[in-house]
Amino acid sequence: MTPLAGRLEAIRRTLPSDVDLVAVSKFHPVDALRQAYDAGQRIFGESRAQELRAKVAQLPADVQWHFIGHLQRSNVKHVVPHVSLIHAVDSLPLLLEIEKQAARVDRVVACLLQLHVADEPTKYGFLLDELRQFLADGIWQTCTHVRLRGVMCMATNTDDARQVREEFHKAYSIYQEVRERWFADDPLFNLRSWGMSHDYPLAIQEGSNMVRIGTAIFGPRPLPGEQAE
Ligand SMILES: *Cc1c(COP(=O)(O)O)cnc(C)c1O
Repeated sequence: MTPLAGRLEAIRRTLPSDVDLVAVSKFHPVDALRQAYDAGQRIFGESRAQELRAKVAQLPADVQWHFIGHLQRSNVKHVVPHVSLIHAVDSLPLLLEIEKQAARVDRVVACLLQLHVADEPTKYGFLLDELRQFLADGIWQTCTHVRLRGVMCMATNTDDARQVREEFHKAYSIYQEVRERWFADDPLFNLRSWGMSHDYPLAIQEGSNMVRIGTAIFGPRPLPGEQAE
């Protein structure tokens, strides 16, 4: 077993069976992804359109690719053909672009709504009022090539576990509100994507069922310039 496979296995052992593991492979070389693949990992998370495309071509077809980072509208057309889940939808214009590009390639693309719960101005995502407005306005319901599957968030990058817990807790309560109000008849609106290398045990305690783990599997990310392409 390679060290990478060992780390992956150690993480898997700690995850409850209903929690999906997204191996966040952004910036890491294809060789590292192959090691994870050979150790049984099938869900990989990427955050750049170009890099995603290059890796899709080099890994087996049964990999499920998730787009996890901020997605620019101009990149949607490069991402939509390849991914099984887009984690970070945070505006109507982005959703409409996904709808358009998914229709073009005759796909239905699963998406999560990104919530802004962190205490950091630079993080993307809907504030609660914006999310309520987005849902009430109803345009999303005309997007037949998008399937909303749940919510995602990132907590503040802090050592204060109490604060991180509160943010995940808030995300869970927003998830519940949205599900009850808009998706009561849709059992597939069930994904809660939160938890990264440093906070995933807490995230699971606070209702996550999809963790996005990079560093704890692959090690530190290579610096730009040393990246895989
Ligand atoms: C990079 C990234 C991760 C993984 O972070 P690690 O700390 O390496 O586990 C998770 N989620 C998103 C949105 C990311 O961009």
